[in-house]
Amino acid sequence: MNEPEHHAPDWMRLGDWMVGNFEKKQDPLGRDIPPSIPNPLRETLPAVVPIAVVPLQVEVTDLLIDLQTQLTSSSKLASDINRDWARQAGELETTALRAAIQVGAFDSGWLNTWAQAWSSVYNDRLDPAQRDAFLSAATIQRRIILDSGISGRFGDIESRVDQWVASRGAEFVSMVSESQHLAMRSLLTTEVAIGSGLRSTELAIRSAVGLDAQQTRTIATLRTSLRADGVSESIIDRRTSRRAKQLRNARAHRIARTEIAFAHNFGAFEAIRDARDEGSFDEPLLKQWYTSLDERVCPFCGPLHGRIIGLDETFPGNTKTLPATFVPPAHPQCRCVVLYVTRGEL
Ligand SMILES: [Zn+2]
Repeated sequence: MNEPEHHAPDWMRLGDWMVGNFEKKQDPLGRDIPPSIPNPLRETLPAVVPIAVVPLQVEVTDLLIDLQTQLTSSSKLASDINRDWARQAGELETTALRAAIQVGAFDSGWLNTWAQAWSSVYNDRLDPAQRDAFLSAATIQRRIILDSGISGRFGDIESRVDQWVASRGAEFVSMVSESQHLAMRSLLTTEVAIGSGLRSTELAIRSAVGLDAQQTRTIATLRTSLRADGVSESIIDRRTSRRAKQLRNARAHRIARTEIAFAHNFGAFEAIRDARDEGSFDEPLLKQWYTSLDERVCPFCGPLHGRIIGLDETFPGNTKTLPATFVPPAHPQCRCVVLYVTRGEL
């Protein structure tokens, strides 16, 4: 099918999120991802067919409240990530950096440097935070199952979380380190082209640690325009470093929130799938998209609110590279959840 190219608005730019999953069309537990229901940004969704559902939970907002609580702790996670980046920037070896600048290229060996840096960010920061969010949601979801009067049979959620985090970590590190590598290469090319000095280039590279490709370009553009205005090199360095620091901080927050929401939603989902696989339910399970209050106006998630699909079916993701997702988030900083329901009498 020849669809017109879709340009997502800036706020729902995919960034470095989830690309790997959908290239291989499998979720972090290695299961195939089926195609999604229509994308509300491209097509008008059909009217909601009223069907009666029985929510598994008595208190529908339990998961939403827990997600909000988990997200509150994302500030600390973000500042830890931010500190890691600042430290890594400082630890970049001057000799090796200057050699790359003189050659005018980061060779493929540098990919390893970025991968190691991102591995430690993942292992030290995101892995424990995602485990907590995953297990917290799984625990609530199990309690909800039991509270619904179902004699839930459960398997081993610990092994599911181990598997999920290991797979997510590998994917995350490979995505972000490759994007770091590309951003750094293009930054270096730009710096060389505009004739920045060795010291300035080195500073520009150090302050781009942790930035995504677009943020790196933003800094390069700022540098170019300040230079065109005849601003002195030392002021350019100061201003661009300050701006890079703000952008890095914003990205750390975006990553922290998105990865926590991602793990939280998968925790609840895996708890349900586990109970289903163990034979806890007599009836087929469904899932219903549920936005947080302010996401009801989001042009992507708003139309999804209340939509019901089968447990193993997928909702749309927000860009070409994320065509389908089992559970929210549908975009960075999405705070939606799904409710698990069974079909009731109308
Ligand atoms: Zn959302």
